[in-house]
Amino acid sequence: VRVNQSRLKKLLLDLIGIESVWENENEIATYIFNKLKPIADQVEYQEVSGCGPNVIGNFFGKDEGPTMLFNAHMDTVKVFKGWKRNYRGEEIGDRIYGLGACDMKAGLAAMIEALYCLKDSGITLKGNLIFTAVSDEEGFSRGTYQLIKSGKLGKIDYGIISEPSGLDIEIGAGGRLVFDVHISGLSAHAAEKEGINAIEELSKIVLHLKEMSMEHDEKYGVKGKLTVLYAESSKPSLSVPDYSLLRVDRHYLPGRTREEIAEEFREFVNSTPNLKANVEIGLMERPTPFMKHFLLSEDETIVKIVERAARKVLGRAPACFIGLSVNDANYLNNIAKIPTVCYGPSGANMHSPDEYVEFSSVVDASRIYYQIVENTLT
Ligand SMILES: [Zn+2]
Repeated sequence: VRVNQSRLKKLLLDLIGIESVWENENEIATYIFNKLKPIADQVEYQEVSGCGPNVIGNFFGKDEGPTMLFNAHMDTVKVFKGWKRNYRGEEIGDRIYGLGACDMKAGLAAMIEALYCLKDSGITLKGNLIFTAVSDEEGFSRGTYQLIKSGKLGKIDYGIISEPSGLDIEIGAGGRLVFDVHISGLSAHAAEKEGINAIEELSKIVLHLKEMSMEHDEKYGVKGKLTVLYAESSKPSLSVPDYSLLRVDRHYLPGRTREEIAEEFREFVNSTPNLKANVEIGLMERPTPFMKHFLLSEDETIVKIVERAARKVLGRAPACFIGLSVNDANYLNNIAKIPTVCYGPSGANMHSPDEYVEFSSVVDASRIYYQIVENTLT
């Protein structure tokens, strides 16, 4: 069985052409539903509150083998400023540019093409394959969270998410907390008194946070990160602002705990030099839980399954690595307890202008997904 490259390219360009910023996945979900309809044993939508629906495609086996989950998110981030290429899709050499081209419409297309190859092959599966196209990964992961909480998945042995991974295997990912720092100053007449300016106090904290050191993992060469995400203050008036809010993203590595990270952050903020304001720290509110880190062993079966297929298709062994960013694999590993890796194509500029994927790596990824199905489920 061979991957049909022109079918795959058309699928990828179609997907890039459909707007699907998180919470707006209705149109792309319909497109994917219609693609799966002729090839899956069963396809259905699953409603996700506040977002477009998940699409679930079942490929039933004879219950004589394991059950595998293929998962891909349909949503993208919004269009950021600075695009020089067409964010609705532009092909230049091996590169396909577009919003979500790499993250992760390429992985989504590669998995669907692998399902088409399965249909083309006429093989009867022993194990079961469940393909889920999910919404809101770039928002609050409500799609995958709903999938897990609904109990719809049943017993699954292994999971693969086709997030871009440069054709290497992401066996672990960091955890994430987002802190809300509430800063209370003292208002005063803007023309006459200093008061305690909550924006100036916020600035001191922001600059101090630049000095905070992050944990790092020697073996996998990855480091924790802190990013100031957002700030706001009390409404401008003729008064010194007495309130500001600072929102800070903290991605931390496996091996640390949430409690440690929260305590460390609190202490560091409170040690800001010359801080006069009163500071309270909480976690940002969100509709789903914050994600905990996960890390699989390189000897875990799913890692070996991907390694074997990749070796066969690429003729070389893929590397294992830890990604810092959270993704739906955090929920699948931690909440659903499905050993899940991320494995997908190569590209660059994710969440940035001129995002692209290398089409040859999308073809390879698709071949590898098909090979995984053949090795594991037949
Ligand atoms: Zn992604």
